[in-house]
This record gives sequence, C-alpha cells and structure tokens, in this order.
Amino acid sequence: MYPFVYQPLSQRVVFGSGTIGQVGDELSRMNLGRALVLTTAQQEQSGRELVEALGARAVGLFAGAVMHTPVDVTEAALHQVEALGADCVVSLGGGSTVGLGKAIALRTDLPQIVIPTSYAGSEATPILGQTENGIKTTQRSLKVLPEVIIYDVDLTVSLPPKMTVTSGLNAIAHAVEGLYTQDRNPIISIIAREGIAALARALPAIIKREDDLEARADALYGAWACGTVLGAVGMALHHKVCHVLGGSFDLPHAETHAVILPHAVAYNERAVAEELAPVADIFASPTAAAGLWEFSKTTGAPLTLAELGMAEADLDRAVEIMLANPYWNPQPLVGEQLRGMLDDAFFGRAPGTSLQGQPS
Ligand code: NAD
Repeated sequence: MYPFVYQPLSQRVVFGSGTIGQVGDELSRMNLGRALVLTTAQQEQSGRELVEALGARAVGLFAGAVMHTPVDVTEAALHQVEALGADCVVSLGGGSTVGLGKAIALRTDLPQIVIPTSYAGSEATPILGQTENGIKTTQRSLKVLPEVIIYDVDLTVSLPPKMTVTSGLNAIAHAVEGLYTQDRNPIISIIAREGIAALARALPAIIKREDDLEARADALYGAWACGTVLGAVGMALHHKVCHVLGGSFDLPHAETHAVILPHAVAYNERAVAEELAPVADIFASPTAAAGLWEFSKTTGAPLTLAELGMAEADLDRAVEIMLANPYWNPQPLVGEQLRGMLDDAFFGRAPGTSLQGQPS
C-alpha cells in the first residue's frame, strides 16, 4: 500500500481544433466582457487577431510578456489593466505569457482564460515563478490557477520543430518527476504515464511533418496531462536544477529541461528504479535515463549545457546554490555527485557516467 492525500484542482478545459473561436462564449459564460489579451512581442499578431475577433468584449492587447515573469513587466501590464478597466485576462502563448496572466491574477484576483501554444504546462498549475532583481522565486497559490484553459491544436502548428522538442521534453520532465515524488498518488501516476507516452509518440512524428495535426493533437494532449501532474504533486532534483540554471545563470527554460532530464533521472534512478520502470518501458530501454537520452538524441534535442551558454567555471557555484536550500529528493543530494552530474550534462556524456563507482 502507498498511502496518499490528493486534492484535485478545479479547471474548465476546452480541447480541440479551432477552439480559439470559443473565447467569446467562455467570456459570456463567465459574465465577462472587458478582456485584456496578453502575448509576447513575437506573438503580437496573433494577439491582435484575437482582440479583433472578440470585438467589444476585448479592451486591448498587452504584448510585452517575457520569460521568467519579471515584476517590472507585470507592473506595466497592471497599469494597462487599470487604465482600460479590464475584468479578466486572456493569455495567448507559452509559459511566459501564461506566467504574466498568473502574476496579474495574483495581484488583482481577475479571472484568466489561457490559450497555451507551447507544451510548458503552466496553464494547469497553481504555480507562479517571478523574477525581481535577478532572483527568481516560486510560489503556489490557488489565486493564480487559470479558470479556463482553451487548447487549440491549430495554434501549436507554428511552434518551430526545435522548440516543439524542447518544450515537449519540458512537459515530459513534469510527468517523470511526478512518478517518484514523495506526494505521488495512483491517479496522477496514470496521468503521468499517459502524458509521457503521448509525447513520446507525437514528437518524432512532428519532426517528420510539422503540420501533422493528429500528432500535434497528441502532443498537446500529452502536455495537458504532464501539466496536470506538475499542478498536482511536488517535484524534485530535476526541477530544482533547472530552476537554478535558469534563475541564476539565465539559461533558456525548455532547452535546460531537455539537457538536464536524462542526467537528473540517472541520478535518481538509483533510488526509484521501480517508479521509473514505466518510463523505461515507454522508451523501450533498459533504464529510464538511457531511454530519455536516446530519445533526446533521435529528436535532435540539445545535449550539452555548453551549447546553451553555460560557462564551465560556473558549475561549482551552481552546485552550491542547489545545496543552499535543502529540499526533498529520493536520492541523497551529495555535492560531489551533483557536480559530476552537471559535468556529464555540460559535456554531453551519457547520463550516469560520473556516477559509476559512486556509492548509491
Ligand atoms: P515561452 O512562453 O517564453 O515561449 C518561447 C517563445 O516561443 C516565445 O517567443 C513565444 O512567443 C513563442 N511561442 C510560443 N508558442 C508558439 C507557437 N505556437 N508558435 C510560434 N511561437 C510560439 O516559453 P515556454 O517554454 O513555453 O515557457 C517558459 C516559461 O514558462 C518560463 O518562464 C517558465 O518558468 C514558465 N513555466 C512555468 C510553469 C508553472 O507552472 N508556473 C510551468 C512551466 C513553465
């Protein structure tokens, strides 16, 4: 028996093709009629089209979302919320845009409709990471959980293949850690396996044909499943490492998840091989770490921290930061072994190389 406590989150999820056309209906259902649409600068055009389609139900567009939710950007958006008298936000984009919507909701309690266009999974979580003075802090609050998610597979076709792969691996990472976390539960573990399997099927097909709508739908479904896992249970070493590398060394989010995942899994598989067996099975590999590593290679994911711009001289400092605030992990956190793991990831060696001969 594995005893557990589980409190499901409440969200309305609309999934399909062309569903962006349903934003107006969702606003009406919630008695909302003054939406501020949020995007990044890169997706401004899509935001403009949505504002136009919503007509009188939209009051404007804020196209300034950027990665890691800097507080000064949130303040600029809040200014616009107030000036325009917005009664909700509609976030159209990846994790950065969803993050901005959450930061606004935290401060105003405004409802959020989110239309995710990447596989980051933030839409399904009550988690918000924000950056101020170069420091990224993360909090959990139901205030930031979006009320409605509209998944429109058509909007994901424009996600470039490289980002499709890294974003997909970012999603897989949520589900992998959800399988062995201390507060796991059987339902969430089923969702985790389902999410990993969907992305494992879909990503290779999307690489072959970017506009394969069936594969795109499978990937988006997998991303929802993996995001649901992230929203439901705690994470461990992999997410901590990525948080440190992104927050303190400015490495790109999805790419960092892609590089670190096989290495963090090799570190932890010594303690939780049984929990990770479904991952090994999905990738038809003797171990989860080896399966993820092969998958990364065949899908053309980045394989080294070096290529993401990490400096080798910063690896010691990264380990120091990782160990500064203790957190739960199934395998004891040993500085020398963590340093070895980062070294493997830096040079792109097979996961677990530096752990050979180390006490488990
Ligand atoms: P992102 O949102 O920064 O997107 C990267 C770029 O791709 C942006 O320019 C974006 O506009 C563009 N893009 C997104 N979808 C596109 C599409 N379909 N077509 C064309 N361009 C598209 O990156 P991300 O990886 O989605 O999100 C990363 C951020 O999300 C980080 O800040 C991370 O901390 C956060 N995040 C938070 C959670 C959470 O639960 N709080 C979970 C995952 C990620």
